[in-house]
Amino acid sequence: MSYEKEEVYDMYVMDKKEIEAISEVITSTHLDRYIDGTYSQTSLFEKEFANKIGVNHALAVNSGTSALICGLVGMEIGPGDEVIIPGYTYVATALAVLAVGAIPIIAEIDETLTIDPIDIKKKITKQTKAIIPVHMCGLPCNMYAIMQLAKKYRIRVLEDVAQACGGSYQGQMLGSIGDAGMFSLNHYKIISCGEGGILTTNNKLIQQRAMLQHDGGCIYERKPPEINIPIFAGWNFRMSEILSAVARVQVNRLDGILSELRLQKSTIIQGLININTNFKLVPSNDSDGDCGTTIFLMFDSDVSADAFKTYSNINAWSPDYSGHVYSDWIQLMEKRGSHHNSYNSFTLSEKYYEYSKDMCPRTLSLLKRTVGISTAIGRNGDEINILVDKIMDISK
Ligand SMILES: *Cc1c(COP(=O)(O)O)cnc(C)c1O
Repeated sequence: MSYEKEEVYDMYVMDKKEIEAISEVITSTHLDRYIDGTYSQTSLFEKEFANKIGVNHALAVNSGTSALICGLVGMEIGPGDEVIIPGYTYVATALAVLAVGAIPIIAEIDETLTIDPIDIKKKITKQTKAIIPVHMCGLPCNMYAIMQLAKKYRIRVLEDVAQACGGSYQGQMLGSIGDAGMFSLNHYKIISCGEGGILTTNNKLIQQRAMLQHDGGCIYERKPPEINIPIFAGWNFRMSEILSAVARVQVNRLDGILSELRLQKSTIIQGLININTNFKLVPSNDSDGDCGTTIFLMFDSDVSADAFKTYSNINAWSPDYSGHVYSDWIQLMEKRGSHHNSYNSFTLSEKYYEYSKDMCPRTLSLLKRTVGISTAIGRNGDEINILVDKIMDISK
């Protein structure tokens, strides 16, 4: 059987190396992560990933959403606390805040399509405990301004690096700048093992609390992890040994994938630079640290953005699709933060909150005027030139 691959999301690179890694785990019969660290694929993956990002600790879990939840639990965030997130991110960022009983406060994005530090400042209250800057589509957030605010108001920073694995800001790896960083390994990300997530931190308390949250029973293992804080009830977000083996191969591919995507992005931009058009390139907080997954064109109106999508024939997409803009998050807009009303963040908080689809008008207007074009692994020079020609044709 063969499957047509979706061109828009083509970052997927896997071959027999991954298949061999899976076979090895199965023949070894070691399918439990709490075995000697020299065998445990999950422990090895954590060590290698921590090394890559430049942090002391990494905790592998079963999804990016679980990694966000573990990060927030690690930061001791719970009912009554507010966490500031951008209006442009995948819904999981908001769901993780609700999962720990806290309130997501939505901030505007700016022209870089990442969270606007000026709007963060406006939204800080006595209840604010954390900010989740999201490096969307490989674009680094303004981490300088965000870390300044965090220091001044003593709030935590959890970087959502789900879409920017391997990216950097002013020479520092994304996921190593805030108090913790979170990565996803689902199908759509830069590196993948199907499903998976990882939390990075230099903070020992965050690591230990996250460890307890990710496996409430880990203290009863034959080789239990080192935990010297009071034990609280956690869940089971354990990573699979088979998927960790795949993830280890993927980490080795990361640099190669990024250099191909980055070269492709700069070639396309180079091709577009001298044409007279009704769009501009979305500005970057750090173009050297950008992952190169996406080229964003910003038009002067939503009518011209729509016309471009309709007539360009190059798989151009709108950034506000399927769950990536706050106005589509029905769960939050209607304040149903949990499966049970007594467990709902909005019942648990003494303060009254209101959400509306037009609460961040600048975010909506920026996204409507923006068109994304994805880079893809394996495009050759001719294919890139054809792409640039098509963009130029439509822009005349
Ligand atoms: C993919 C993604 C997540 C969630 O990751 P899962 O592995 O799907 O749980 C969180 N935030 C952003 C920005 C994402 O793109």
